[in-house]
Amino acid sequence: MNINVDTKLIGLLGYPLAHSLSPVMHNAAFEEYELNNIYLPIQVLPENLKTVVNGIKKMNFSGFNVTIPYKIKIIKYMDEIDDYAKAIGAVNTVIINNGLMKGYNTDGIGFLRSFEEFAGNKIDGKKVFIVGAGGAARAIAFAMAMNNAKKIYICNRTFEKSESLSNDINKSMPQCSHTVPMSFDEMREAINDSDVLINCTSVGMHPNIELSPIDKKLLFRDLTVCDAIYNPSKTKLLRDAEEIGCKIVLGLPMLVYQGVEAFELWTGRKAPVDTMFQSVEKALKNN
Ligand code: NAP
Repeated sequence: MNINVDTKLIGLLGYPLAHSLSPVMHNAAFEEYELNNIYLPIQVLPENLKTVVNGIKKMNFSGFNVTIPYKIKIIKYMDEIDDYAKAIGAVNTVIINNGLMKGYNTDGIGFLRSFEEFAGNKIDGKKVFIVGAGGAARAIAFAMAMNNAKKIYICNRTFEKSESLSNDINKSMPQCSHTVPMSFDEMREAINDSDVLINCTSVGMHPNIELSPIDKKLLFRDLTVCDAIYNPSKTKLLRDAEEIGCKIVLGLPMLVYQGVEAFELWTGRKAPVDTMFQSVEKALKNN
């Protein structure tokens, strides 16, 4: 790579950033197309977020990604926000044009593409059970509602957050879906009534790889089971589901497809999907 004064910078803002696979994935994609771009992890302390964003505006950046814990906080620095990101209330991708910042959210579409490809199915008409109500759950639940899921159960350890997400969806898309908030002790019946189960909690993530947010006894063969977690690539929940004979969808394709959408927003070119998959699979193996 030939870095020079014309090199376009793209950042990843978050804290902490130690295990992100996005730099490997995007730099492999830029290299594949010989684009004079570089993707940089930029770890930002909360008290420095405003200064860093203002600095980025004055530098040679085409955009950046935003991760935990800034997906909501970044909104106040945007000049414009895409409708879908506005509805979700979170931004993970920013484009900078003539010093103006526009925020998008590619997490939901990333999940949807991975579901359609790896479950070989559409969300349209399905009953979906989501466990978790944080950033990933918000993006995925809105994507489910926009793509005509028949019913969306939102089950979270902190009930108020299930309720708040459910209200936000029902308010902004009353015509789309029926969304039902619930606490953990109500999950049995809702899972039984569902076609698709999606883990959007961090339970089961490395290093706690023997934990699952769902008791194996609640899973059944006809349920498609998905996990947003990509490290480990096959979580305890997915291993349990596979043993029962369920179709499973890993978290890694969601990561790649949210990156694919972001790449296309920044460059206006079709992303090299295979290269992006290979780069993250290799990085995870070497982890
Ligand atoms: P977040 O906003 O911090 O939300 C975390 C969620 O996990 C909350 O619902 C929280 O419940 C729940 N939770 C945490 N510990 C729990 C426990 N011990 N028992 C039950 N629930 C628990 O995080 P996020 O951004 O949504 O990320 C969630 C997961 O998705 C992470 O593993 C992340 O790596 C993954 N993710 C993957 C992708 C991808 O591209 N594949 C994209 C985004 C995120 P409370 O509200 O009760 O605290």
